[in-house]
Amino acid sequence: MKEIPYKIYLEENEMPTQWYNVRADMKKKPAPILNPATLEPVTLEELSHIFCEELAKQELDDQTPYFDIPEEIRNFYRMYRPAPLVRAYCLEKKLQTPAHIYYKFEGNNTSGSHKLNSAIAQAYYAKKQGLKGVTTETGAGQWGTALSMACSYFDLDCQVYMVKCSYEQKPFRREVMRTYGAQVTPSPSMNTKVGREINKQFPGTTGSLGCAISEAVEAATSQEGYRYVLGSVLTQVLLHQSVIGLETKAALDKYGVKADMIIGCAGGGSNLGGLISPFAGEILRGEANYDIIAVEPASCPSMTRGVYAYDFCDTGKVCPLAKMYTLGSGFIPSANHSGGLRYHGMSSVVSELYDQGILTARSVTQTDVFKAATEFAKVEGILPAPESSHAIKVAMDEALKCKETGEAKNIVFGLTGTGYFDMVAYQKFNDNEMSDYIPTDEELQKSFSTLPKVEN
Ligand SMILES: *Cc1c(COP(=O)(O)O)cnc(C)c1O
Repeated sequence: MKEIPYKIYLEENEMPTQWYNVRADMKKKPAPILNPATLEPVTLEELSHIFCEELAKQELDDQTPYFDIPEEIRNFYRMYRPAPLVRAYCLEKKLQTPAHIYYKFEGNNTSGSHKLNSAIAQAYYAKKQGLKGVTTETGAGQWGTALSMACSYFDLDCQVYMVKCSYEQKPFRREVMRTYGAQVTPSPSMNTKVGREINKQFPGTTGSLGCAISEAVEAATSQEGYRYVLGSVLTQVLLHQSVIGLETKAALDKYGVKADMIIGCAGGGSNLGGLISPFAGEILRGEANYDIIAVEPASCPSMTRGVYAYDFCDTGKVCPLAKMYTLGSGFIPSANHSGGLRYHGMSSVVSELYDQGILTARSVTQTDVFKAATEFAKVEGILPAPESSHAIKVAMDEALKCKETGEAKNIVFGLTGTGYFDMVAYQKFNDNEMSDYIPTDEELQKSFSTLPKVEN
């Protein structure tokens, strides 16, 4: 067997030329998204009022297994891809584990996360359709940053509704977006009807992702030549993020390594869905088996404690309904430092794969996550994003189990980004001021009671 280098780089010509749509290989498909007014499956025509037409087509297509990646998008990918698959030799040594640990690193671009993979695709299709610009929301700020970069590349106007508490807490993220030319508005704002309504109902609110989504959708549908784009949850986003999994698989294959375990953090499910898609496809086709684990925060446990039901994707209830593992669209997670994992629901594709037993899920507490993040940073050199560190935590747990059993498993996890804009969180951890909030069953029950009544 070839000796495995610290970093497995693919050549540019080994970069995927097509995205993979795992839905094509699912016998039981994810449930269709529904029009919130009629409760009928959303049509392409209806969806095209909100999304660019090409993206709306991708959203609804559960048959086509592969989509060509347009050359313009591949050219942009070339600036920061293929992303390396790193063998975590130093972490293995530190843990004294016989396991082999690999991580796919998506933090080597200015946005600092995997979100650029889909941002550039969505901006491209908007430009191709001749639009003036796009609107979106951002929570922690990673998606807004990625989209700002993508829009400036294609010379599109970019309007970002940023959850107010992040807008105030993360001024540097905001300035990166503005540097790339985006217009950033704290949400809830007074710019939109839904924003004014939420401000009236909850005076002084610092906002939520669900609320910022409603504002961004309203902004898109009320301006000529604008469409709305979203950085996670949607199946089109999972499709674009499949580039992560395809590269991971190509890098492992290059060295004849068969993964035993694949681990990813799960917020809306896009990096996890992208990472696991090719592997899940093999399971679905009966070609291989993998242990796939989704890791979510104990403070926002949509898969481990949520219900599988149709729910609203946003607080203002303007978006289509999706069947997913959810805590209820009214669920407002406690202030938690993994902003990118605070969404109440989960991608319908990941939800259905979870329901079919293709993957399992675990939740971890915030302080345990930061402990793992710090250990990882010390030995592997990369300061990880809090979101990514959920996957690190479980990868380390599994490697320690291997130490007990003596198994040399191949553990692969997604390192979705860097944590340079999360230093307030690291500071809390270093000062021993971090707490672990876990919602009670009563709180969740109350939130479930807000679910729409739809036949499942
Ligand atoms: C947004 C984000 C996530 C979570 O989003 P998913 O759609 O679940 O992938 C994870 N890690 C980082 C660094 C992020 O920015």
